[in-house]
Amino acid sequence: MKAWITFLRGFVLKVYYPFLMFLGAFLKSKKTYFQAYIIQLNNSLVMKSNYHINKILLLLPHCIQNSKCDVRLTFDVFKCKRCGMCKIKDLIELAEKSKIAISIATGGTIARKVVKEEKPDAIIAVACERDLSSGIVDTYPLPVLGILNERPHGPCIDTTVNLEKVKDAVQWFMKNSQQGKNQ
Ligand code: SF4
Repeated sequence: MKAWITFLRGFVLKVYYPFLMFLGAFLKSKKTYFQAYIIQLNNSLVMKSNYHINKILLLLPHCIQNSKCDVRLTFDVFKCKRCGMCKIKDLIELAEKSKIAISIATGGTIARKVVKEEKPDAIIAVACERDLSSGIVDTYPLPVLGILNERPHGPCIDTTVNLEKVKDAVQWFMKNSQQGKNQ
């Protein structure tokens, strides 16, 4: 079952996704919809299997930090002063409580670097449709649950995320990693 799910994810991410992006180059208004569809499809496939997980990484986009905050978090999210002006405070607390790793990435290159350094067994990633779909493709075959950010002020500035969705993803991996260890 697990091998089939990995194969299916590979097909979706390495064949179907590029095909949809090719279509999206002509149907520009549909591109974001296609990316969101791939994220959803990936998540449902990831959730059809169990995993051997020792380390979960919560990967966040830089735009979730309050734009007025002058603390530099790129290389150490724990420098956050936890003032509560953005969701970083709650996300750090969630990561500490759940004993999972947490990082902020300013773009795809940094995100790849973080994944290479942290060597997680599973990732919970928050980002926009474009960054999330391409990040999930880049990190395959690692299991990634993607959560779309919310953009009340438009793209790339003062974005936020539904904390409950992040909590659910953390709990899902924790529950299924225990089962995975018994396989
Ligand atoms: S919670 Fe942290 S990252 Fe957000 S504004 Fe306050 S100090 Fe900056």
